[in-house]
Amino acid sequence: MNGQTEARERSVPTKVFLQGKVSEYISRCIECNKCMDACPATKEAFSIHDLNEASIGGYSVPLEIKEFAFHCMQCGHCAPVCPKDIRRDHLMLYLKYKLKEEKPWAYRRYLFIKGPKKTGINRIIQRLFIGIKKLTNRDLAGSMETTPEKKTKVLFYPGCYIYSTKTIRLTRRLLDHVGCSYTVLGGVTACCGAPHLLQGEFDQADRCQQLLYQKIKACDPTIILTACAECFEAIESIKKTYKMDVEVLSVAQYLLRYQKMFPAEKIRGKILVHDPCRFQAQSPQGVAAHEAVLRFAELVEPPRNQPSSCCSQWNYGNDQRNVLRQTTYLAAVKDAAPTLACNCLTCYEELIKTYTDVEIIDVLQLFEESLDSIKTGEKK
Ligand code: SF4
Ligand code: SF4
Repeated sequence: MNGQTEARERSVPTKVFLQGKVSEYISRCIECNKCMDACPATKEAFSIHDLNEASIGGYSVPLEIKEFAFHCMQCGHCAPVCPKDIRRDHLMLYLKYKLKEEKPWAYRRYLFIKGPKKTGINRIIQRLFIGIKKLTNRDLAGSMETTPEKKTKVLFYPGCYIYSTKTIRLTRRLLDHVGCSYTVLGGVTACCGAPHLLQGEFDQADRCQQLLYQKIKACDPTIILTACAECFEAIESIKKTYKMDVEVLSVAQYLLRYQKMFPAEKIRGKILVHDPCRFQAQSPQGVAAHEAVLRFAELVEPPRNQPSSCCSQWNYGNDQRNVLRQTTYLAAVKDAAPTLACNCLTCYEELIKTYTDVEIIDVLQLFEESLDSIKTGEKK
């Protein structure tokens, strides 16, 4: 679901753009309820008419709709089923914007340290966080919160996930292996703004994107790589907004260009790909993940009538049925394959927290394991 790209492909502020979309969408809605039938989030009884009305600026929001808005995980499952081509997920974003002063603590906590130019207590906590991370990860400290200034061909943009250190070390090893000369742009002060956007904090999201654009422009890359679907979508949005001549790729897409530099042997048995809401299976990034699994393992098709596979990150645990949905999904995965390869770092980080006997891996791990398989072979 390409949410940010459509929502932000213009020069007006997000809140103004979405405000216009809200009235347009609501005037088209035939109240057929198909969007809600497809929605996996927990909701009490309310009518589409009430939901539409609550989305309009100036109208009050009933309690059951407030609760639903904070359960909404921005998965986008409501959009493709709409016969009137309405983005219910964008209407929900606007509702979150309306309710931003009433956000639950789990929402607020997530943004505490993310973003540039923090002030007051947030700034102190952000600095402490960065200091501790640099101290405990000295090998990566030089890539944390830096502002690259020299021109580079390839920019590896991990944004906030620079602190997912296992993935960063793994990605760096793989990029080094294929001989890629790259610059890293990572850190909470270089946040892509997706976490803010997905909470309806539109002004903060716009600010993050403006500053990130300036940082990208300073090193003027021809290729930008990222392994997070939200970062990817934000970079695509920056590219369109500022008309940048740059290729945006997932790390898996990039590595597949150099697949001859990895051993040809299969190293794993059955694996199912976890397709994130924002990198669907048919997207170039989704296709790359499936190709990578096929390259190193036995690719298994997802079960028919697969339950909601959304990792639920973007409601921050606010819907008590998150765990039930994830457990049901992983039980269906288990029937098909023992291993689930995630094609987005957000999904990976969220799903590994689930209690399950399914092995959850990052799809990039397969590239690394194939390199390790050479060493193991050599030792034997
Ligand atoms: S599916 Fe579309 S037309 Fe039907 S209620 Fe939802 S938004 Fe309205
Ligand atoms: S984006 Fe929100 S409203 Fe739409 S299906 Fe997902 S949880 Fe439901």
